[in-house]
Amino acid sequence: MSLRSLAPLLAGLTLAAAACSGESGPAARPRRIVLLSIDTLRADAFTPESMPRTRAFFDRGARFTRFYSATSTTQPTHASLLTGQHPWDHGVVRNGLVLGEEHETIAEILADRGFRTLGVTSSFPVKGALGFGQGFDRFDDTFDQTYADSWAGEDVAAAAFYSLAPDSVARARAALDDAEGEDQFLWLHLFDPHDPYGDAAGESEHPVCMLPYLQLIGSQGHESFDHWLGVTIEQYHADVRAMDAELGALLDRIAAEESEYETIVVLTADHGESLGEGGSLGHGERIHSAEIHVPLAIVGEGWDAGERVDVAGTVDVAETLLVWAGAPAGTTAGRDLTKPLEGSMAVGMRRILDEETFEIRLDGTRHDQRVPRFYAVEDGEILYGAGDQVVRADDPDRAFEAPDERLARFFAGAAEALASRSAEELRGGEVDAALEALGYR
Ligand SMILES: [Zn+2]
Repeated sequence: MSLRSLAPLLAGLTLAAAACSGESGPAARPRRIVLLSIDTLRADAFTPESMPRTRAFFDRGARFTRFYSATSTTQPTHASLLTGQHPWDHGVVRNGLVLGEEHETIAEILADRGFRTLGVTSSFPVKGALGFGQGFDRFDDTFDQTYADSWAGEDVAAAAFYSLAPDSVARARAALDDAEGEDQFLWLHLFDPHDPYGDAAGESEHPVCMLPYLQLIGSQGHESFDHWLGVTIEQYHADVRAMDAELGALLDRIAAEESEYETIVVLTADHGESLGEGGSLGHGERIHSAEIHVPLAIVGEGWDAGERVDVAGTVDVAETLLVWAGAPAGTTAGRDLTKPLEGSMAVGMRRILDEETFEIRLDGTRHDQRVPRFYAVEDGEILYGAGDQVVRADDPDRAFEAPDERLARFFAGAAEALASRSAEELRGGEVDAALEALGYR
């Protein structure tokens, strides 16, 4: 058979190969990646009771019961979520620092791979001005809520510090509409569970932050403390339920469009919230389990329904999504969570303030905020690095043990990396006022 007579056969084989590789035939669906970061959502608030619609969506996929946030503070954890880097590597170790342009975000990588990148955030610490808009084609960080519009009968100039889910979800819908039919990456940050409590649930006309008041009456041993702590916890969960109704409607849309888009949806939180555990309130002061044990849930083709008990952490999210999108493994410091992890571990640290201060606990005792600085979770147990010691248990003040050489080396390495990093600080009236209003300064 001559080469000339082989030509039609070879052409036919080439066409067949193209069909097998997806180069011809019906067009592949565009891809849709949705990353939901829920501010201040404790692991135990992600329940069918508190979040029925959201859980109904995510119960179709994997739910990680041993997932830990990189820090207990908004900006540092979000910087890890978006870059897949540990806090001591990206250097955003507290709120008010800028995520530097030298750090590549998942939005930048996905934009390079042809995704339309859409960011919708709901509070000041994750504004574009602080570096969180890097790589987003469309970044919506306009907020409409303030803590009070009047004070003692006087009008207070409204400064928009945050948004609630009805507004944020509407902005997310508009972003998805804008990118219809394209490969899409949507990051939606919701703020509803964060103090002030009762605002999302409409239970307070002029919401105020309860935590400083609770702290005051708690440390004074006032008899009304238990009552007001109970009210606060109820309001926290009421806000979570109110958010769930809005988020549920968005998830219904995403589910209805799964035939049009190859879809993966991830839900997590930047930190939890101490509601009296270990004598603490709020977040950021400690790396107690109430503040770093948070939800992770993933729905998508190939993600079996059920609980995953291997330990994972914030930095693993970006790697998992990038591998899903076809990026080479090892692009970030995280691990691909598609398969259960052997020897799984999560690591992180506590924020670093300009002037290190003391946390005053509810029993009135003062605790040096520098101790502990780092944590590691193995087999569900949180181990802390406190100086050259490794400490077990959630109250390191009471549970010092002999050093664990392996972990001590890890904590020392993190401290060394941290010492060589610095991030630019964004200072100015608006930034300082907003962070202070949110309880961050
Ligand atoms: Zn936060």
